[in-house]
Amino acid sequence: MTPELDPSTVVVHAGRPERVPNAPLGGSPVFSSTYIAGGDRGYGRFGNDSWVALEETLGALERGRGLTFASGMAAAAAVCDLVPVGGRVVAPQHAYSGVLALLDQQAAAGRLSVERVDIADTDAVVAAVAGADLVWIESPTNPAMEVAEIAPIAAAGRAAGATVVVDNTFATPLLQQPLSLGADLVMHSATKFIAGHSDVLLGAIVTTNDDLWTALELRRRNLGAIPGPMEAWLALRGLRTLALRLDRAQETAGFLAARLVEHPRVSRVRYPGLPDDPGHARAAVQMSGFGAILAIELGGDAEAAQRVCESTRLWVHATSLGGVESMLERRRRWAGEAPTIPADLIRLSVGIEHRDDLWTDLAQALKL
Ligand SMILES: *Cc1c(COP(=O)(O)O)cnc(C)c1O
Repeated sequence: MTPELDPSTVVVHAGRPERVPNAPLGGSPVFSSTYIAGGDRGYGRFGNDSWVALEETLGALERGRGLTFASGMAAAAAVCDLVPVGGRVVAPQHAYSGVLALLDQQAAAGRLSVERVDIADTDAVVAAVAGADLVWIESPTNPAMEVAEIAPIAAAGRAAGATVVVDNTFATPLLQQPLSLGADLVMHSATKFIAGHSDVLLGAIVTTNDDLWTALELRRRNLGAIPGPMEAWLALRGLRTLALRLDRAQETAGFLAARLVEHPRVSRVRYPGLPDDPGHARAAVQMSGFGAILAIELGGDAEAAQRVCESTRLWVHATSLGGVESMLERRRRWAGEAPTIPADLIRLSVGIEHRDDLWTDLAQALKL
């Protein structure tokens, strides 16, 4: 794939079979637990052509080498497993709750130590990276929508000898390329925007560092958290339309954010696309769009927020995000969510429905 192509073209054409007569345009899921001896593949846990097609496509988009996993958490766990026993991890105060829980579990077991930082406070993060083995960045963060300044944090982390990883799930490879901002690894819950249709769990890592790629591939084969071929195929099928889905969803997200700011029951709207959002200026520098996730708060009233989530007819009340269907939930309904996330915060994942229908439904739920 020639590097000058626009990412919206790359997402359609990367990871395809060679164009020779009679070849199919796209690969098929390869269902095989083993392979005929004599080649380098060996066994189904070591490699599969359906993974490779998705990995090539993600690698082309993020400009590195891709590696897919059974879920976003499987990818995150493989990265955490790189930390030496007794090592030190710097992680955001607010980030995907499963990743924070994984780090807490490993810290409780004495395997590593974790220092939590406000990832939007660049000076504090840079001060914390001394002696770290792993610096975990998520930007924008789930669900607080904070924006980390990736380039200076990555530079400081690498100068301190740490491996720097960015969870790029909210931004997607089309809106933000952390490897070009200096990160060692980019991680995705491909379950979300990449697969995009709420029918697959899948994770991915992309890196330009061959040693890290090899170390992570070894974790995948030995820890065994491999993707299913059908899941990898579905994710690539979904990924082909990411540019279209994201264009539509993020335009609607901007429209809804502006409406919500004006709504009398909404006390705060968190969306980096809003000009007065604390993350706006840095998001404008390091992202090519502001994404399709936003969060609102309802003046401290958690019960009212819960009622809004239960009163929509079109918006789906469910956890997860990044699907074609618009979804919302009050994040603190989960015991594992950080206690510093406001109890009345509702995370909104904007899908591809018509924006007027989405606004009408949200407005009627906010009135109840
Ligand atoms: C969902 C999510 C994950 C975890 O991914 P799974 O595919 O559910 O295992 C990690 N990070 C972020 C930001 C997420 O939204």
